[in-house]
Amino acid sequence: MSALMDLIYKGSNAVAGLTENAVNEAIAKYGEDKKVAMPDTAYFLPTIYAATGVKVTKLGDLPACVNVQKSLITNKEDLGEALNAGLATAVGAEILEALKYVDNADPYAEDSGIGFVPDPVIRSLGVPLVTGDIPGVAVVLGKADNAEDVVKVVKDYQSKGILTLMVGDCIEQCAEGGVKLGLDFRVVPLGHDVTAVIHAVTVAVRAGLIFGNLTPGDLPGLLKYTKERVPAFVNTFGPIDEVVVSAGAGAIALGFPVVVDIDLGENQVPGALESVTDHDNTVKKSLELRNIKIKVTELPIPVAFASAFEGEIIRKGDMQVEFSSHKAPTCELVETVSADEIEDHKITVVGKDVDELEPGKTYALATYIKVAGAKMQPDFEPVIERKIHAWYNYMEGVMHTGQRNQIRIRISKEAYEKGLRLKDFGEVIYVMLMDEFDMVVDKCEVEIITDTEKVQELLEKKAMPAYERRDERLENLTDESVDEFYTCTLCQSFAPSHCCVVTPERLGLCGAVSWLDAKATYQLNPTGPSQPISKEGCEDEVKGVYPDVNKKVEEATQGALTRVTLYSIMEDPMTSCGCFECICGIEPFSNGVIIANREYAGMTPLGMTFGELASMTGGGVQTPGFMGHGRHFISSKKFMSAEGGFERIVWMPKELKDDVAERLNKAAKEKYGIDNFTDMIADETIATDEETLMAFLQEKNHPVLGLDPIM
Ligand code: SF4
Repeated sequence: MSALMDLIYKGSNAVAGLTENAVNEAIAKYGEDKKVAMPDTAYFLPTIYAATGVKVTKLGDLPACVNVQKSLITNKEDLGEALNAGLATAVGAEILEALKYVDNADPYAEDSGIGFVPDPVIRSLGVPLVTGDIPGVAVVLGKADNAEDVVKVVKDYQSKGILTLMVGDCIEQCAEGGVKLGLDFRVVPLGHDVTAVIHAVTVAVRAGLIFGNLTPGDLPGLLKYTKERVPAFVNTFGPIDEVVVSAGAGAIALGFPVVVDIDLGENQVPGALESVTDHDNTVKKSLELRNIKIKVTELPIPVAFASAFEGEIIRKGDMQVEFSSHKAPTCELVETVSADEIEDHKITVVGKDVDELEPGKTYALATYIKVAGAKMQPDFEPVIERKIHAWYNYMEGVMHTGQRNQIRIRISKEAYEKGLRLKDFGEVIYVMLMDEFDMVVDKCEVEIITDTEKVQELLEKKAMPAYERRDERLENLTDESVDEFYTCTLCQSFAPSHCCVVTPERLGLCGAVSWLDAKATYQLNPTGPSQPISKEGCEDEVKGVYPDVNKKVEEATQGALTRVTLYSIMEDPMTSCGCFECICGIEPFSNGVIIANREYAGMTPLGMTFGELASMTGGGVQTPGFMGHGRHFISSKKFMSAEGGFERIVWMPKELKDDVAERLNKAAKEKYGIDNFTDMIADETIATDEETLMAFLQEKNHPVLGLDPIM
């Protein structure tokens, strides 16, 4: 037997022994009926559930899983069998990690890692993964001989937008080396024990269950999904023992190549297990092995620029200066002009730049972008304008919140000391805009204005009238007022049989793709994920049945779906990929529906959490009675119009209710003549069970009580 296989089996057998002992001890201590569960997931112990279909809920379920684990270790001299032994180590690691949660809701409280990654986090990663904003996932494991090596590699991944999940002492090495850690920075410490690597594995496994419509127990389907659709790979740092080697074999079985920084000599497996001892080549080799292509946009600015910095918070004490609508006029405006009115790539700072402004103070700021292009349309102005938020945030040391005339921008002292100035903001706008919108924009000129009077003048004379014009356009933008809807198939990389139909009154269920966005996407990429759908021959306006919707959905899903109604939750409802902002489900007692949003971790009156509700839909499958959707769709007059509309809503989490209250109350007044409709909708502070909910609805005389049965 090769030295490599010998190590794999040694590791797998050692983990199997540890697992069996730990399970027996836990049962002896707590009894077989003691509950065992990972936090905030609807997928039990996800690896075991996905691979075997077994729903582990109590300690008494685990001995059978240990038997499965042991059966995977054949000790035969065969690479395929050895990789199965690696999967056995994954099963063991999952059980050992799950045992940490028995009798301890937060076993990672004292660890710098976060442990298990909850379902809502995975759902929130869906859109950045499909858009390529996160081009891949690196699992970094171990302790580097030289801390600088791992710091450099992780910073490189961060600058490329790669999501890095870390296990072991490399976490502290990176923290001490100045790597910004946390989900917001796309560098997530999982834990120190090697078994914590399972928390990376279950992210991939649950992607298959959430987005891929995998049948639990379909192990070949799972391995195919992770190999083909989850762009992950593993880097180990420092010496590796047999347990790490067997865990690595599990990663390879899932299709994730492993790059180690020690010389494995002839034990290397080309394409799957390779040695890279020169850390300058680690990133390049890892990306090559997983075929991850990074689009590099060269930006002549003195700070790093990457989507990984989007969530960076800059506290008051760390800021050099701030620009905020709370204390001074601000605005962001994209305006279409004729080509002869502007000079391409002209960037002007009007007023004082950061080095002339008193540190720690708040100032006025306008970002005024003039664009020209034969194919440019005023409808694309707000689409480009909303990009400013992301582009500014991508600069390390810049925090941007808000939009239009309600913004706050902070520049950190660190970024200022590195030389960041407002001219660089103009460069970022120019380069990114010409990169992403080159199909419609031929010329672009940028003014960054800090002169208060000039900002005020721009705000009053151009920005506010433009915002009002656009609001009016949006107000009048209904499904009836346009000639075309659009498909969006971006999520097919994870959910192959899913297709969103985006209309003016029904945005994509991720909440990130409006009809204007889809229209612009089509113009920018005519063969891309958004294709126009004709509205001709509408068969049912209330349910939203259009022949071309059915045809385009059938084409887009390669025949997986043949009929979709746009406004019904019961009859051929739109599918969900899994990254929906909200899920709506029928509440049979009241004859209404409840809605839960991704951020809500509590219980709903259906006796299910968001995660449990969400697990019933997704994967591009139609599930009558459940519907994933965006927040904005709740106040749409098309929301479930086939079943009576949003009058059916009886319960929402308070935060969601408050967020949509203004729009929903306005729409309810217009559509049904009801005042303050949201006062009639319960939330978790009022009811989390059906009886209390019904009593509340009766007290409020909720209109749902007078509606026809929904089923
Ligand atoms: S609109 Fe639909 S398919 Fe497109 S990114 Fe959003 S959820 Fe995915």
